[in-house]
Amino acid sequence: MNYAAEIFIGQNVERCFHLYAGQPEGQFASFHYGVGDLVVTARNLANDRDAYNQELKFRLNKPLAAPLVELSPGIKIPDWRETDGEFINFGAFVSVLKDMPEEELSAFKPSSLPFIPSNPWERGESGFDVHFSFDRQIGATLLSFSSLHDALMYDSYEVKKYDVHPVKCQNCGKLFFPHSRSDEIYCDNIFRNGKTCKDLGYEMKVKADQIMKEYRRIYKMQNARKQRNPQKRNIAARFDDWAVSAKQALKLCQNGEITLEEMKHRISGTDWMS
Ligand SMILES: [Zn+2]
Repeated sequence: MNYAAEIFIGQNVERCFHLYAGQPEGQFASFHYGVGDLVVTARNLANDRDAYNQELKFRLNKPLAAPLVELSPGIKIPDWRETDGEFINFGAFVSVLKDMPEEELSAFKPSSLPFIPSNPWERGESGFDVHFSFDRQIGATLLSFSSLHDALMYDSYEVKKYDVHPVKCQNCGKLFFPHSRSDEIYCDNIFRNGKTCKDLGYEMKVKADQIMKEYRRIYKMQNARKQRNPQKRNIAARFDDWAVSAKQALKLCQNGEITLEEMKHRISGTDWMS
């Protein structure tokens, strides 16, 4: 299957990507994106063909999971307001990329990226086929490409032009462009059960905060026991020993080797006092 593509750049520099599954079948996928998002997706796939498996399953099944609404008596269809067309369309784009021949996709592996032409209007060996038009009335630029590969090359060119750099997600290892905050360390791709790395990163932070909160609470409690029992022999040394083992339990819990309940159980007792 041959895919033609278009990049629509609005007055507010908002970019929209359209993918056509040949003509005249018409539009295949359409979604908004930021500079570099297209090529970085190709790069992730070039490095790991299965990088988006979880994601695809979730995105493409989304219409099935949507609540049904009654179109006419007896006929129910998925509620399109709940299915998020752009979200699903990005999945369709990824599945087309996944089917790209190896030799085309491997052009986007990090090591071969310098292949990008410095001038998009320059055809030839390293150039790409793009047709440019400008709509004065709506102040929008339309770039038409005869193949998806050309569109990806154009996006690579923009990455170079705007000098933007992808970062590596600290959870899944995919490259991404932090569009909202520059210190973002987790990507917006779906990692597991429909949750993005960002969602999971947030959950991990909440959990880490909870572990520390419990640890500190118990530490204070044990410290108070020490203060209340100065008459006990070697109480300070015993407390120090307790503190060492409590710290070990904290580490195990932070590494996910024991549960929060197990950590609490291990460090809240009074055995250390006697
Ligand atoms: Zn990620």
